[in-house]
Amino acid sequence: MKRVINYSAGPAAIPVEVLEQARDEMLDWNGTGCSVMEVSHRGKEYDALHMETMDLFRQIAGLGKEYEVLFCTGGASTQFLMLPMNYLGPGKEADYVVTGNWSKGAIKEAKRFGKITFPANMELEGERFVAIPRQGDLKLNPAAEYVHYTSNNTVEGTEWHYIPDVKGKPLVCDMSSDIFSRPLDFSKFSLFYAGAQKNLGPSGVTVVAVREDYLAKAHDDLPTMMSYKVFKDKFSMHNTPPCFSIYILNLVLKWLKKNGGLEGMGKVNEAKQKLLYSAVDGSKGYFRGLADVDSRSWMNIDFKLPNPELDDKFVKEAKAAGIIQTKGYRSMGGIRLSAYNAVSLKDVQTTVGFMQDFMKKNPA
Ligand code: PMP
Repeated sequence: MKRVINYSAGPAAIPVEVLEQARDEMLDWNGTGCSVMEVSHRGKEYDALHMETMDLFRQIAGLGKEYEVLFCTGGASTQFLMLPMNYLGPGKEADYVVTGNWSKGAIKEAKRFGKITFPANMELEGERFVAIPRQGDLKLNPAAEYVHYTSNNTVEGTEWHYIPDVKGKPLVCDMSSDIFSRPLDFSKFSLFYAGAQKNLGPSGVTVVAVREDYLAKAHDDLPTMMSYKVFKDKFSMHNTPPCFSIYILNLVLKWLKKNGGLEGMGKVNEAKQKLLYSAVDGSKGYFRGLADVDSRSWMNIDFKLPNPELDDKFVKEAKAAGIIQTKGYRSMGGIRLSAYNAVSLKDVQTTVGFMQDFMKKNPA
């Protein structure tokens, strides 16, 4: 069996132990004589898994029962509209910090439900983003219902290294691409959400965590599948949940716990990003990092080689060496290494060896 080093930005690598367990349980899950995909979501076996997964999520985040964990579908993209649908409306306003392609995606939907204001807009010419605003740069709108930001900009390779102080406003975050990558004070958030397909497992489930007092403020009269309150009241089982995705999420969360929880993830991810950025910075300009140094993402490491031909050659030769999905996002070009939780330190060491070797063999 050949496993590659997988830098896919999402759907992304899943820990091999999780895949092995899923394989072993595929024909007979939990003594049921069938897979988790084939049992009723109303049955006791699935119900236990479902509720345990919510508890595991809370435990890892260090949150108590005052946070509801919801399992939604439609990806983080559906949260872009579900959130404002639940909290905005005619005459209402919300603050959105503009730090990249995905925060713009969130804004596009939010504008359908209210007036959107921008505490900071980090867009440079040509849709380029290289930095995260500093606390002092944030101009908050006193009339905003909430403040939304994107903790990690998957495309641009930038990440917030602090939680903004929003002066008592409800703080909402799209954590799709760095959730559970390191310790974070999740209790600062009124609501946060993440598509699972980067650090949490497969696509198909989007986790939303919302503090109960904030949930109580959501609108009541909404289409059923758009209502946070319905998700809470029905334990995210008003309709058939994405059972298999939730099952893998459950296994990933157990893997995460076994590997030291957020402290454990944080240590490894810190070491990984240091190695990768040192390889970039130590190359005397051969590899050029795209993000400002103090805004660099630990998850998505973006850089360029001396010319686009060398970028292409790098991607091709990396693939031949068993290192896949290294091509940058289409609007960015260059290389993007998405080193999420399931990419090991050893994988990164191998990659750095490849980078150094490539540089020697392909002078600018
Ligand atoms: N937000 C961020 C930060 C993302 O990286 C992505 C997907 N790459 C999305 C939102 C959209 O997620 P989905 O595809 O689950 O709708």
